[in-house]
Order: sequence, then structure tokens, then C-alpha cells
Amino acid sequence: MATRRSKPTPEDREQAIRGREGSRPSSPSRGGLRSLAAVPDPAAKSGVRWLLARLEAAHPDAHCALDFRTPLELLVATILSAQCTDKRVNLVTPALFARYPDAHAFATADARELEKMIQSTGFFRSKARSIQHATRRIVDLHGGEVPRTLEELVELGGVGRKTANVVLGNAFGVPGITVDTHLGRVARRLGLTRHEDPVKVESDLARLVPRPKWTIFSHQMIFHGRRICAARKPDCAVCPLSNRCAFAGGAGVLAAPRPRRAAAP
Ligand code: SF4
Repeated sequence: MATRRSKPTPEDREQAIRGREGSRPSSPSRGGLRSLAAVPDPAAKSGVRWLLARLEAAHPDAHCALDFRTPLELLVATILSAQCTDKRVNLVTPALFARYPDAHAFATADARELEKMIQSTGFFRSKARSIQHATRRIVDLHGGEVPRTLEELVELGGVGRKTANVVLGNAFGVPGITVDTHLGRVARRLGLTRHEDPVKVESDLARLVPRPKWTIFSHQMIFHGRRICAARKPDCAVCPLSNRCAFAGGAGVLAAPRPRRAAAP
């Protein structure tokens, strides 16, 4: 008896792209997109240039959506933004930064009071612990100043690579790729990576995108994921990336563009 095939979900299509990229022969070594990105591939380079231009045109206003005045404020705001909207964080931080104006104030704060002030951002106990852990180390190891390197930032504890890259890129002007849920999803759909692990996604993108563009590229991809390429209902019909997007039926940004068919006489 014939069974009716259900419509593929976004997850099914993403799985298909990962399978396709994983089986793609890549030279000179094996390993799919990873090695494709590691060798100077003219098609991949040209695809990335195309992508950067399209993103720039589509999202000229892309920027860090968290309000901050100092590296410490951005560090704290980014910790609060986990599983929470930037808008909600921006509502909470003015009073928070007025109450705790520096790392020492956060480090020595009463934990219950701090938790109460950040409660509306969710996961407030663990976020309060992360803030206090990081600020105590900033006071003890760095004289109260937020350090300027990825290695030192992730060693603070409570600060992951995502938070560290946000701080580096937006507070210190040091290029950083911020792999959040939006950027990871869009990158996989475009065929820029097949990985789910944010560190591997960051590594793939770092090989593809010129370093000076890392921070703005992150903002543009995140804006694209929020505005157009939603998880459940991506709006491919209006998307300026659709003709090369693997999810939308294209060959992927890194592949050579398919030749156009000649118009019928
Ligand atoms: S065409 Fe655009 S909206 Fe659709 S999956 Fe690709 S990047 Fe996302």
C-alpha cells in the first residue's frame, strides 16, 4: 500500500545539507567543508565575497543590540543575554549598572540582591554566579579591568567563547566571530559549515571570512537569522541569499554558481 510522504521539516532539510556536505569530495585532503575552507579555493572565496556584499546590502544597520558603555557592562549584559532577548536585558541593565558601577561592586555584591535585580532575564541564579565568579577574577587577576584577549576572558570562568568574542569585537575592536543559535543555523543552511558545535562553526567561518570582517559579519548573520531566516519558518521567498542557499535548493555559497540558462529565442 502506498504511503503518503509528509512534507520535510526545516530539520529534515538541514540534515540533508549536512549529509551532502559530509559526502562532498574535497581536495587535497578529506573532511568536507573543513578542508575546502582550508585550501585557497577560488569558488569558495568568490562565494564568501558575494555573501558579504549581500549581507551588507540587506542589513546595513547590523550592530550589537546590547546597550553598554564599558567592556565590563558588555560582559555582564552578554552573560544576561543567554536564553533571553536583548530587549529584556536592556531594560534590566540601567538600574543594575547604577547599583554596581565596577567589577569590585559586582564581586562583593550580596548574591540574593543581585539575583533579584536580574531575575526577569531568566536562569538568574546561574547568571548571578557567573557574573560574580568572573568579576572576582577580574578584580583578583586583572586589577579590576576586563582583559583583552580571548584566552584571558575564557579563563575568567562563567564566560564562554561567545561572550568573549562579543566583548572583544564590540568593546575592544578586536575581531571576533560570535556563534549564537541564529548565526549557527544560517551558516549551516548556506553550506558554510556542517557542524553543530559552536567552536567548530567558529573555526570553519574563521577560515572563510577575512579577519577584519568577523565582528560585523557576526552581527549581519544574526540580524539575518532574526529578521528573515527564522528557525521554523525561514522567509526564503524574500531572502537575498536564496539563489545560492543550500537549504533553498542552491548549491551552497561555497560552490561555483550554476551557469544561467540561455533565454529561449
Ligand atoms: S534562502 Fe535565506 S531564508 Fe531561506 S534558508 Fe537560505 S538563508 Fe535562510
